[in-house]
Amino acid sequence: MKNITVIGAGTMGRGIALACVQAGYDVVVQDVSEESLQRCETYIRKFTDSVSIQFETDLQQAVKSADLVIEAVLELMDLKVEIFKALDTFAPPHAILATNTSTMSPTEIASQTSRPGQCIALHFFNPVHKMKLIEVICGLETSEETIQTSMEFGQSLGKECVKINEFPGFAAGRMNCLIGNEAMNMVMEGVGSIEDIDKAMKLGLNHPMGPLELADLVGLDTRLRNMEYLYATLGEKYRPCPILKKYVKAGWLGKKTGRGFYTYDEEGNKL
Ligand code: NAD
Repeated sequence: MKNITVIGAGTMGRGIALACVQAGYDVVVQDVSEESLQRCETYIRKFTDSVSIQFETDLQQAVKSADLVIEAVLELMDLKVEIFKALDTFAPPHAILATNTSTMSPTEIASQTSRPGQCIALHFFNPVHKMKLIEVICGLETSEETIQTSMEFGQSLGKECVKINEFPGFAAGRMNCLIGNEAMNMVMEGVGSIEDIDKAMKLGLNHPMGPLELADLVGLDTRLRNMEYLYATLGEKYRPCPILKKYVKAGWLGKKTGRGFYTYDEEGNKL
């Protein structure tokens, strides 16, 4: 495996692309937004001046030599399906098609392609350069060869992989979304301040980050989409907290917009 294409140059796409470049792969990052690509390039250039990375708006061009494609666009099933259909058409027949979805069904995405055995979810964690784990999620028809190649790819990035059988929310995300949602409900109920609820988890339960600062880092719009999917598939326990919905309506999307549960300066430092 030599050529990796990352679709979507946002929070996750840029991190995955950087990890791949640093592991020695040739990488193409594709996004429909010139602005996202520009921000991605600025981010990656802070870490490396490698010539093994290209930025592209045209999907067909971006995937024409790919051995592995990792999709990291918005958490919307219709969008992912549309992209996977295009990947199936334009990527070489041997290519593995992976999604970085946090919650959605790789089986459902794969079923829209002619190569479900070569489709898988590779769930990276945010921020990619710090987080050791990749959940390798097997859909119903994912082949053993695809699983094996994907695990080896993850290890080549210096990550640890866990194999997960598909179920909504997978493993880490399902638990994390529930903890974050509970913390938001506690803010709404006036149980404690935002800072104190985060501090309780950090110092009382040894979590490296509080659930509210983590939600801000993930992006509150992304988290809301995750919760809505879990609510639709797993039921009442996952009903998104009304505060989360209100913040997203207000455009408070967390660190990326400078305002969420906390406020941030231009550099992303908490004020
Ligand atoms: P983001 O909003 O930061 O970035 C999404 C990018 O997709 C944007 O740059 C956008 O321009 C691009 N895009 C939209 N439509 C496109 C298209 N048709 N073709 C190409 N690019 C397109 O989102 P994100 O937080 O990076 O999340 C991406 C995926 O990763 C989601 O499925 C999310 O659930 C998952 N994920 C997110 C996190 C996290 O902490 N943010 C963690 C793990 C997994």
